[in-house]
Amino acid sequence: MSEKYDVIVVGGGPAGLSTAYFLADKGYNIIVLERGSEPGSKNVFGGRIYSYPLDKYFPEWRKDAPIERWVRREVLSILCKDSIVNLEYEINRRLNGYDSFTAFLSRFLKWLALKVEEKNVVVATNVRVDEILFRDDVAYGVRIGEDKLEAEYIVIAEGANTLLLEKHGLRAKTSPRDIAVGIKEVIKLSREKINERFSLRDEEGLAQFLICPVFGAGFIYTMKEYVSIGVIYRPLFNNQVEARDVIEELRIHPHISKLLGDGIPIEYSAHIVREAGYRDLMHKPYGRSYIVVGDAAGLILNTGFTVRGVDLAIESGRLAAEAIEKTPPGEEPTLYMKLLQEKGIITTLKKFRKVSTILSDQRIYREYPEIICQILEKIYTVDELPETLNESLKKAVGGKTSIIRLILQLLNMVRSL
Ligand SMILES: Cc1cc2nc3c(=O)[nH]c(=O)nc-3n(C[C@H](O)[C@H](O)[C@H](O)COP(=O)(O)OP(=O)(O)OC[C@H]3O[C@@H](n4cnc5c(N)ncnc54)[C@H](O)[C@@H]3O)c2cc1C
Repeated sequence: MSEKYDVIVVGGGPAGLSTAYFLADKGYNIIVLERGSEPGSKNVFGGRIYSYPLDKYFPEWRKDAPIERWVRREVLSILCKDSIVNLEYEINRRLNGYDSFTAFLSRFLKWLALKVEEKNVVVATNVRVDEILFRDDVAYGVRIGEDKLEAEYIVIAEGANTLLLEKHGLRAKTSPRDIAVGIKEVIKLSREKINERFSLRDEEGLAQFLICPVFGAGFIYTMKEYVSIGVIYRPLFNNQVEARDVIEELRIHPHISKLLGDGIPIEYSAHIVREAGYRDLMHKPYGRSYIVVGDAAGLILNTGFTVRGVDLAIESGRLAAEAIEKTPPGEEPTLYMKLLQEKGIITTLKKFRKVSTILSDQRIYREYPEIICQILEKIYTVDELPETLNESLKKAVGGKTSIIRLILQLLNMVRSL
């Protein structure tokens, strides 16, 4: 690897591969360096990809992309000890008219890497970049062990674990308060059982967001013959279960075990999740001859109901490619931030800036779900003379808070989402 490239991309996730894909169209000589044994082997995500950037930039992607199922059912669930409260939204459209699909990120990235390689980009795996090389503040290459590789431009696409950026002082050390761990298990279940238990037809999928007093937030996505379940574990919370036990705790919940109890766990993975939202966004995700894309730059949107990382990674890759094309090497690609602003990405992240504070409020997972479950239990359990809603509400709220305070808290929360 002694050749000089126009662009070195550090990281073969959605952001790095997309940047390479768009730059290749502009005639650059590019190498993507990925520390995993193949694209996707080190990446973890829940299971849903929004399709709009693929429609815009990847002609005919639907023909060969590894789509598992199109998301037709969206469910928001509160899991209490032995009950569940569901809010469901179901859409009926032409099958490929849905906005998002479920996928394995590993398969999706292999597909994306092929598209990139078809444009003569080199995707080198098992290569861990140890250092970005700078000369008078201008990035000019990377160090890989004893080897050095040079380029006109360096794209930093290292994902949520920003070790390189922190090492070079380009990003402040992340506070433990702003970090959660995504823990995920993939469970094998026959296509027929998935269809029957989740009320789906072939090719139709479910995305379920879980709120639970025991472990916090979680998710379920249905694939063709697998179900992906996971938990966002916040180490600084006063957790009732250890990180290693949360998935087990989720699987033994009566509702989940009914759906997945006879499934076979085949894969377990964990990855850090940056939780600070807009606060985490790099104000200057570029410097002289380098640019930062995807999660590493803080370009991930959590709306409280949906997580959008992959689509923003692709968009940031496209905008970074445009900024690189229009900025001579050695200069700062300031256009990148301008483009992110013009496309509304920065404004959108700012609009959802309070979500991270809301999601780090333990009452969301502990107090409110219990209150809701208790009220519904009172309403639907008929073993005595009925209570009015107001009586049930008072009992459920108990000494925890006043009803007025509760309503104000909830209103405040809704206004921020
Ligand atoms: C539990 C969980 C669930 C999620 N669910 C969803 C979801 O359902 N939908 C969604 O859109 N988003 C989801 N996300 C977010 C999504 O996964 C990320 O936003 C997206 O993967 C970001 O892409 P990226 O390329 O910036 O980073 P990554 O996907 O993390 O890719 C970074 C790549 O860089 C490589 N790398 C890092 N350092 C080096 C180095 N020094 N040298 C060489 N290579 C290096 C890594 O191996 C990795 O392949 C989820 C995230 C988690 C953790």
